[in-house]
Amino acid sequence: MAMMDVTLFGAGVFGLSVAWCCARRGAAVRVIDPGGVGAGASGGIVGALAPHVPEQWNDKKAFQLESLLMAEGFWDEVAQAGGLSPGYARTGRWQPVADAEALARARTRAEGAAQLWQGRATWQVIDSPGGDWAPAAPTGHLIHDTLTARLHPGQACAALATAIRAKGGEIVSEGRAEGQVVHATGWRGLEEMTTRHSRLVGAGIKGQAVLLAHDAAALPQLFVDGLHIVPHADGTVAVGSTTERDFDSPDATDAHCDALLASARAAVPALAEVPEVRRWAGVRPRSRTRAPMLGRHPFRHGEFVANGGFKIGFGMAPLAGEVMADRVLEGRDRIPAAFDPRASL
Ligand SMILES: Cc1cc2nc3c(=O)[nH]c(=O)nc-3n(C[C@H](O)[C@H](O)[C@H](O)COP(=O)(O)OP(=O)(O)OC[C@H]3O[C@@H](n4cnc5c(N)ncnc54)[C@H](O)[C@@H]3O)c2cc1C
Repeated sequence: MAMMDVTLFGAGVFGLSVAWCCARRGAAVRVIDPGGVGAGASGGIVGALAPHVPEQWNDKKAFQLESLLMAEGFWDEVAQAGGLSPGYARTGRWQPVADAEALARARTRAEGAAQLWQGRATWQVIDSPGGDWAPAAPTGHLIHDTLTARLHPGQACAALATAIRAKGGEIVSEGRAEGQVVHATGWRGLEEMTTRHSRLVGAGIKGQAVLLAHDAAALPQLFVDGLHIVPHADGTVAVGSTTERDFDSPDATDAHCDALLASARAAVPALAEVPEVRRWAGVRPRSRTRAPMLGRHPFRHGEFVANGGFKIGFGMAPLAGEVMADRVLEGRDRIPAAFDPRASL
């Protein structure tokens, strides 16, 4: 007879979130990852939990909104259960408004947010407060949203792992699959599915980021010229990320980081002189549809897959964990059709 109710392959944020959601409902879980906790894309440094723009609404945006709104309670419970902080705080975000056209668009989006976010967070055009944290905004305006949050990815994985163990779960580098089986193996899992199929199911997209020593923990994060600038609780600021389809080494950093750093220093006066702490690279799992893949594994009979977090895996993880626990433990399916793994075949 199986000793475990659920076995998860992959100790990234998807595997750990599913494991946690199962363990907190009383299931016996085993997580297997030869690389250890946070060995893949999830062991990084950026951790922007930022919403999609509030327009052209669809299932993916609605799912992400719900996941972002439940994140505070989710991460709080993880911290309480295991005693480690994931570094979560809903500190909001500023984005500079470049020109009159962008200003008109931002105001339309403010109306969209008022309707779609149902008063649970706001998206507003504000006058730039100035100072050395506000990025240069040619119109003098910034977008300020109160939905965006941050966490520290590596610490969030460690916090989840500790919380799972506190509920009696196992996290091991090798072991047997028992009970229901979930594959949350990131970009390697997408590659494996592709080898079993006649066309691309998904691929790895490399990203690099830089961590700086600067304490802006209580300030909003910034989104400037496609860069996320994310202050963490520990007196660091992350700057990310590159998007690289072609790469030789999954975890090597290179001159791309110099470019990220130069852009961040040019955009935010407070960062002009601050020292670098470290650089980091990882590979995001992007499914063919770019949506998460949650549900039955298309090639492993009777098993499940949780993959395809791509650029917003941490933002999606709380709700992805819950809906997968519903599916795996209770057979209840409230996963959007767009996330059916067969959509990427
Ligand atoms: C530079 C960068 C910046 C990012 N910034 C953000 C951000 O700001 N906000 C955000 O929400 N997301 C961000 N992301 C995306 C996010 O990190 C990913 O979506 C998320 O980490 C994916 O989690 P995962 O668990 O699916 O995959 P991974 O974290 O890659 O985990 C997969 C795990 O599976 C293991 N594994 C592989 N094969 C096997 C096997 N056969 N058996 C057992 N285990 C196996 C690996 O060792 C790995 O630990 C960023 C990613 C990168 C690279």
